[in-house]
Amino acid sequence: MDREPAGQASMEEIAALAKRRGFIFQSSEIYGGIGGFYDYGPLGAILKRNVKEAWWRDMVELRDDVVPFDSSIIMHPTTWEASGHVEAFNDRLVDCKVCKHRFRADHLKSREQCPDCDSKQSFTEERNFNLMLQTSVGPMEDSAALTYLRPETAQGMFVNFKNVYQSARKRPPFGIAQIGKAFRNEITPGNFTYRLREFEQAELEYFVPDDGQDLKRFDEWVQLRKEWYSKYGVSAERLRFHELTADERPHYAKAGIDVEYLFPWGWGELESIAHRGTYDLDAHMRVSGKDLRFYDEASKTHYTPLLIESSAGMDRTTLVMLIDAYEREKALDPAGKETERIVLHFHPRIAPVQAAVFSLARNKPELVELARSIEARLRPQFRTQYDEGNIGQLYRRQDEIGTPLCLTVDYETLTDKAVTVRERDSMRQERVAIEALEGCLRERFNA
Ligand code: ATP
Repeated sequence: MDREPAGQASMEEIAALAKRRGFIFQSSEIYGGIGGFYDYGPLGAILKRNVKEAWWRDMVELRDDVVPFDSSIIMHPTTWEASGHVEAFNDRLVDCKVCKHRFRADHLKSREQCPDCDSKQSFTEERNFNLMLQTSVGPMEDSAALTYLRPETAQGMFVNFKNVYQSARKRPPFGIAQIGKAFRNEITPGNFTYRLREFEQAELEYFVPDDGQDLKRFDEWVQLRKEWYSKYGVSAERLRFHELTADERPHYAKAGIDVEYLFPWGWGELESIAHRGTYDLDAHMRVSGKDLRFYDEASKTHYTPLLIESSAGMDRTTLVMLIDAYEREKALDPAGKETERIVLHFHPRIAPVQAAVFSLARNKPELVELARSIEARLRPQFRTQYDEGNIGQLYRRQDEIGTPLCLTVDYETLTDKAVTVRERDSMRQERVAIEALEGCLRERFNA
């Protein structure tokens, strides 16, 4: 088996597969699309859900020090004044006076020439552009009704800090986690689903006491997140943990790490892990006038906990799963002829379909019935799919959508009560008794 070097596939190639197989479509495609918005098709919707569930399971459900949360997308507009977003959630914008295209100033290689129309010296002066999307609430469209679609999920957890620790009876160190939509009016959305205007974040706000252990805890979270990516098979050589220097981090942050992935166009941020001190709770206490400090019953004192935040984009993580799993593989067929297959090496927990069950022949009711009944028996426990027809084409389709196992019912099955189990990555095949299938699948998927 001849594997192509990592990073060979272009984004166009992956986007074409994503469309062909029903992972990701451009939003409102029949109307020409709308920049920065995408839809997840039948397989993409499951893929993204699996990514979110993997995060949720490991970061929330399996820990007794993290509690779940789900806050509203629209919050009181003062939230965004207190958080600093109204004042400072800006990108620097320049316009080309000739083609009228807009660019993020920090994304331009040169100010001499417009990269879209090649005009020279055609840029306007830089100006601030606030990334928050606005809407209005209620029947009056005046300034009093102005609100924002949240640009991050975190603030919902900060303003509820007291509600949560009191009702859940938690004391620092403990975390609040949520997965939800966020919106940013990005100047230049692009690179497929990397930079969107509507996206999902998985955020974990971990509150710790100021006991000298905070930097150690920060390092532990970084390690944990490293292990998470590795657990789901993201290549270590395409992942890096960039430590932010004091100049690169906000003034209040004590430490920061950007988790970056080597996308086909270069390194890009996937997640940010930050030690934010008491900045966020302080800001909301100052503006709201409410006391959000933790009250420690034992010492009868109030204190503001320090915050370690992990903020990961779920669309970017889904995209990484797709890119990282993608391989165009050359192989020799039994006749010695060179063939090629596209295969997605998804981890079984991430794969949209875990086991496909085939009937070798469409027109043999006894094979079809048996294959369908096997699929129906496995369905409550695994993500399965039934299909029938030409075995070569069936394998090809399942390889392209990353199904780890294919189970084929053939003529022999009628006598030996066993099916051929074919493994996606090695393409090895073995006979497994129908009765043993559940155990076989469970063993492989939990491995
Ligand atoms: P970038 O520098 O790429 O604009 P950021 O530093 O502004 O990202 P954060 O505010 O730290 O991003 O948000 C945390 C995470 O949310 C990012 O690491 C990313 O995974 C995700 N995210 C942020 N903006 C977008 C976007 N426009 N589209 C998709 N995901 C995003």
